Amino acid sequence: MTLTHCPYCALQCAMHVEPAADGGYRTRPAAFPTNRGGLCRKGWTAGSLLGSPDRLTTPLLRTERGAPPRPVDWDTALDHVAGRLRALREERGADSVAVFGGGGLTNEKSYLLGKFARVALGTSQIDYNGRFCMSSAAAAGLRAFGVDRGLPFPVTDLAEADAVLLAGANVAETMPPLMGHLTGARLIVVDPRRSATAEHALAHDGMHLAPRPGTDLALALGLLHAARAEGLLDAGFLAERTTGFDAAWRHAAAWWPERAERVTGVAAADIRAAARLLGRAANGYVLTGRGTEQHAKGTDTVSAWINLALALGLPGRRGSGYGCLTGQGNGQGGREHGQKADQLPGYRRIDDPAARAHVAGVWGVPAETLPGPGRSAYELLDALGTGGGPAALLLLGSNPVVSAPDADRVRNRLAALDLLVVADSFMSETAEMADVVFPVTQWAEEDGTMTNLEGRVLRRRRACAPPTGVRGDLDVLHGLAVRLGRRAAEFPADPDRVLAELGAASAGGAADYSGVTPERLDSGEALHWPCPAGAPGAPRLFLDRFGHPDGRARFTAVEHRDAAEVPDDAYPLIATTGRVLAQYQSGAQTRRVPELAAAEPEAYVEVHPDTAARSGLTDGGWALVSSRRGSTRARVRYRADARLDTVFLPFHFAGDQRANLFTNPALDPVSRMPEFKACAVRLAADDG
Ligand code: SF4
Repeated sequence: MTLTHCPYCALQCAMHVEPAADGGYRTRPAAFPTNRGGLCRKGWTAGSLLGSPDRLTTPLLRTERGAPPRPVDWDTALDHVAGRLRALREERGADSVAVFGGGGLTNEKSYLLGKFARVALGTSQIDYNGRFCMSSAAAAGLRAFGVDRGLPFPVTDLAEADAVLLAGANVAETMPPLMGHLTGARLIVVDPRRSATAEHALAHDGMHLAPRPGTDLALALGLLHAARAEGLLDAGFLAERTTGFDAAWRHAAAWWPERAERVTGVAAADIRAAARLLGRAANGYVLTGRGTEQHAKGTDTVSAWINLALALGLPGRRGSGYGCLTGQGNGQGGREHGQKADQLPGYRRIDDPAARAHVAGVWGVPAETLPGPGRSAYELLDALGTGGGPAALLLLGSNPVVSAPDADRVRNRLAALDLLVVADSFMSETAEMADVVFPVTQWAEEDGTMTNLEGRVLRRRRACAPPTGVRGDLDVLHGLAVRLGRRAAEFPADPDRVLAELGAASAGGAADYSGVTPERLDSGEALHWPCPAGAPGAPRLFLDRFGHPDGRARFTAVEHRDAAEVPDDAYPLIATTGRVLAQYQSGAQTRRVPELAAAEPEAYVEVHPDTAARSGLTDGGWALVSSRRGSTRARVRYRADARLDTVFLPFHFAGDQRANLFTNPALDPVSRMPEFKACAVRLAADDG
């Protein structure tokens, strides 16, 4: 029996993995502060991933487009990829080769992937799928607090709250054990849907505010207006610990609740009641999730929620605050170690000369050889195979054929590459397109560390041997780097050695891991970053000062604007997407778990019966949900509590059931986050 952590979301529940009677493996919950002995349905069934008959166990090589890939040995696959990458670099330059990572990769993989791109390939073209997940909250958190850590406090502190506002976060489905920390609080759930979390709030003396998708920035401004009118602002906190309130207020001053009602559809009386509920709480939190962040104005929207929290004096004291509920398993660590286009390890900016000098020193290369910032995730994917874009892509831990916006456009770009290389445990929809597939280990088959949503570094332990023929992602990077002329010691495949180097590279940065060691983690120490060598972890940030040089938090002046695409006569409805309890992200793992596949086997569209009737849809029949970009097939589910102007689809499914066939890749100007959560669609019955 091995103590490790869940393969899925950022709560990273602790679990035991042990052999099962049928020869496979099973999971059982373990005591840990975040999950307190609980698991959700995905965690309980994660053991079946380890014995899955779908595992890839042999490298695959396709030398001719259209031909089936053939099994080859590891040396043949590695030699082929290294040779093609070297030839492309010599012929078209270093940026002709791109790298794409994922927010589920361990800290060690995230770090080594960034180093591999900058040192072994010399390319600036690296980004990861966390750009589609956390980037708006990260950008807004940085400008408000000077430090971006999803929750700057332990999850267990939430139990001290009297009121919690959850904006665009359906935690009752996406991370159910977290609900156990919220039982003492009245919840204000902001979500266009009557989600499971909204149902919970209404059943427990809370509130559900259901704004039109793409308008929650206006709702946050209306709440700030109402809070000030009710005399709820914390004048002492504003004066002593913040800057910029007056400029932010100049925008919010025009958003009296009746105006916010006209834009959002949320009743002015409810806006005032919610402001009172949160503002009068002795302890309160504002927590945001993807629903509020995945917009072309996601950064400003999160800033509006942070402004509300600051105005009420919530951040900077125990039992209250602002936090972002990170989604992917290593969504936090994944954005700290350098697999992001604009970052180096330690959460350093790649355009900062001092940061470049420090990291280059650890890597033993001249700072001037490190490339500068590259394209963001969608811009990178959209440039693939074009005249000015990369001709080859190495992809780890991601499945953009399902998870990227305007997914068929991305699929076409991948098809235009000279070389697509995918490392995965399963034949994902993206791996199916690859010229080379490396079969790699998964969660409980390897050691490594993850950083959960509260910035705590955790040990993922190996509980079983991988199938014969499978190697780790670190082995892939090591094998390629050596073939590209780097010294073997520069790219170790041993995770503990990578963690030690990561610690040195991050030392002195915001996300300092130099004090994180396997021994300290194994002893049970709670190592929240920053954790310099010899120092304890830092579970609570900002109690004395925020991360900006003057120690103050900063308001940001933000204004509401429409979604990039609004309904019209041709596309009269708004579509929004999200996750469900029994599936996870692109479904590459969970669609292979029999219990989960049986629970949620197909895409569906939640729609109000009156809206459905106008399009000729019947409950249980099939619909085509179409935008200007594409159409998705989905089973119709009537929801009498749905907004008349809004439909909802989960995004976990493949083929013609991919919700991202219709989503809008319009990007946030700061975070480069695509607008997954609001676009114009129409419905039609689909009997085919
Ligand atoms: Fe795994 Fe997240 Fe479920 Fe916990 S809540 S068992 S980490 S998927």
